[in-house]
Amino acid sequence: MHEIKPKRMLVILAHPDDESFAVGGTLAKYARKDVQIILLCATRGEAGIPGLNSTEAGEIRERELRKAAEHLGIEVYFLGYQDGELASVKPETLLETIACWVDLVKPQVILTFGPDGVSGHPDHVTISRIVTQVYDQFYKKGMLLYIHPSEATELGCGVSSSSTDDEQPLIEVDISDYKLDKILAIQSHASQNPGLPAKPEEAMDKIPCSEQYTIARDAQTGDNYPDWFEPQREEEKDAIR
Ligand SMILES: [Zn+2]
Repeated sequence: MHEIKPKRMLVILAHPDDESFAVGGTLAKYARKDVQIILLCATRGEAGIPGLNSTEAGEIRERELRKAAEHLGIEVYFLGYQDGELASVKPETLLETIACWVDLVKPQVILTFGPDGVSGHPDHVTISRIVTQVYDQFYKKGMLLYIHPSEATELGCGVSSSSTDDEQPLIEVDISDYKLDKILAIQSHASQNPGLPAKPEEAMDKIPCSEQYTIARDAQTGDNYPDWFEPQREEEKDAIR
């Protein structure tokens, strides 16, 4: 890992492209506000290119994610699990791997899928469950945010809002100044046929101006509380009331 910065966000997702479609604007925005953003991608998306074997597909998708990460200004690490098989990995193994990363990074914000996995994909659901367990059992500091189904996740990810808990407080991140970064990141995943016009400038109106999160846990513990996130949250809470 690179040098540790004072402000840190740990993003834990399942496949290359989850980060760009669902949360790319948020990642680009905070990366440019000097937050160190570390993405853990559980798999290389080996199952995601029809007609290619898993080794070739994994190599292509790893390259695409590294390129997207450059556009977003984030660090990326692969956990090395197989695409589509996270639900059958021993939970203790996943738990230990993710707990080690949380302990290493000590992030003020952890960002992952909600219990519905946004799209219901079993890999997403598994990641959400394990990350939440890690927070509850070993961490309990800062904030745990879940990706909230919205117009932003509809693009590319599909939406499943069946298990959305309307009681949970919502953060709406305005990404209007970071849409170009998000588009370039999405377009890096060429093997996933992003469905955007080739010229980034022409894709601007296809990208919603905000991304939404529910606050799943909010420990507000002293020096590990993300005050860099707070002003934004209050202001944007007002905006969406
Ligand atoms: Zn995914």
